[in-house]
Amino acid sequence: MALTLTDSSLVVSRGFIGGAWCEASSGRRLDVVDPATGRSIGSVPEMEGADAERGISAAAEAFGPWRTLPAATRGQHLRTWFEAVTAATDDLAAIITAECGKPLVEARGEVSYAASFLEWYAGEAQRAYGDVIPPVHADKRMLVIRQPIGVAAAITPWNFPAAMILRKVAAALAAGCPMVVKPAPQTPLTALALAVLAERAGLPPGVLNVVTASVDSSRAIGQAICESPTVRALSFTGSTQAGIALSRQAAGTVKKVSLELGGNASFIVFDDADVDAAVAGALAAKFRNTGQTCVCANRLFVQAGIHATFVKKFTAAVAGLKVGPGADEGVSVGPLIDDRAYAKVVGLVDDAKNLGAQAKLGGEPASLGGTFFQPTVLTGAQPTMRLAHEEIFGPIAPIFRFETEPEVIGLANATDFGLASYFYSRDISRCFRVAEALECGMIGINTGLLSSAVAPFGGVKFSGLGREGGRYGLEEYQEIKYLCFGEIDS
Ligand code: NAP
Repeated sequence: MALTLTDSSLVVSRGFIGGAWCEASSGRRLDVVDPATGRSIGSVPEMEGADAERGISAAAEAFGPWRTLPAATRGQHLRTWFEAVTAATDDLAAIITAECGKPLVEARGEVSYAASFLEWYAGEAQRAYGDVIPPVHADKRMLVIRQPIGVAAAITPWNFPAAMILRKVAAALAAGCPMVVKPAPQTPLTALALAVLAERAGLPPGVLNVVTASVDSSRAIGQAICESPTVRALSFTGSTQAGIALSRQAAGTVKKVSLELGGNASFIVFDDADVDAAVAGALAAKFRNTGQTCVCANRLFVQAGIHATFVKKFTAAVAGLKVGPGADEGVSVGPLIDDRAYAKVVGLVDDAKNLGAQAKLGGEPASLGGTFFQPTVLTGAQPTMRLAHEEIFGPIAPIFRFETEPEVIGLANATDFGLASYFYSRDISRCFRVAEALECGMIGINTGLLSSAVAPFGGVKFSGLGREGGRYGLEEYQEIKYLCFGEIDS
């Protein structure tokens, strides 16, 4: 095991079902690889549909006792888990960096962001209020209560190995729903370390189950989850293509499906923007996690009057980013997750260059080899280029030039996606106009960072359904029940 941790017992090589650490029923295992070196850092069970069914049964058994706990007690479990996760920040960050490649400083930030969902939902558990409706007849009383939906399942991606899990699990558990989690095959060690901390925090058996899988075996797990009538809610974060496939599969059991899918964020800089603030925001929105986040700025639109100044300052700022393995000091751009991601980025940059984009900076693989790519600034980007329509998921910043506000709103909305957008302007009327006109679920106005446990995260159009975070996140795991009382004497 190449990982050196303060608490080495956080690295486990077995799945977690019904409070027990277990192997795959097939006995097969899956290697976990450090994308910075290509070397194995451990292995986990390659679980199948039958293992997912065991997880679902364990969660179903845990449902009754868990849902009947007082909300404050469920909240206290989440609070204790929050404290355990926070205390293990450095070790969890080291695991995240080792299996997903992001710089260590960002991995620490992810642990804090992930833990904040436990803290937030520890409180929200107690605020699952219902409603009292003014009755339509004098002898009736009408109430609405919220109840846990039942067993829930989560399928999560590799780019935020801790946060994408806790964003779902914290809300589900607060609502009273046990959960089965299938982490991404690239990043199962973080998921299992979180389960170790949950067990230590005293979470009852079966309330959290982690079923690890390979790319080959995850299809069977997805099928078992989607086709199970016991699973009443599925929360998926990942690509739009996979989200569509899973929701088709889940249709037969009429379960609640929440989808947090891909994005194609616009980042608009108007002539009246504070250009230095816009440069700092663009750097954060573009290069976080080496450009591999769903809310990464995919298309930078800069108005003609500020274009030259922005390009100059932004290029200088990007030139200061250090590329290297995430665990190295001062690194802010790590490797891409795998060869497939690398090939996609190379293809998108070649396509853009062939169609007339100019590389102001970078534009080539980094000298480190492997899946490292240079932080790149492209000017002369055009809507005909592939990167205008596809998620880049890499450290490439294409800059489009525009003239007018209506023109840029048309350009920004010319995508099937609708997750996040950002814009910079100091005109308050324009801020409202543009925020209302952009077709997306989240907007950063004069900021490049918008995610928070207290706010709703999610998209419109092909970017998904439902919301995570804030009070809205709890609703994904609740049923609304209407109670009508008759024969009331008044
Ligand atoms: P992905 O290929 O769709 O995979 C996401 C997860 O789904 C993985 O665990 C994957 O496992 C699993 N999966 C895919 N198809 C499945 C199926 N038919 N049955 C069961 N499991 C299945 O996405 P990714 O490449 O890991 O992540 C990047 C994508 O996630 C990007 O599009 C990004 O924008 C999106 N994302 C969205 C958000 C958001 O909140 N909206 C946040 C983060 C990431 P396998 O790899 O084994 O198939």
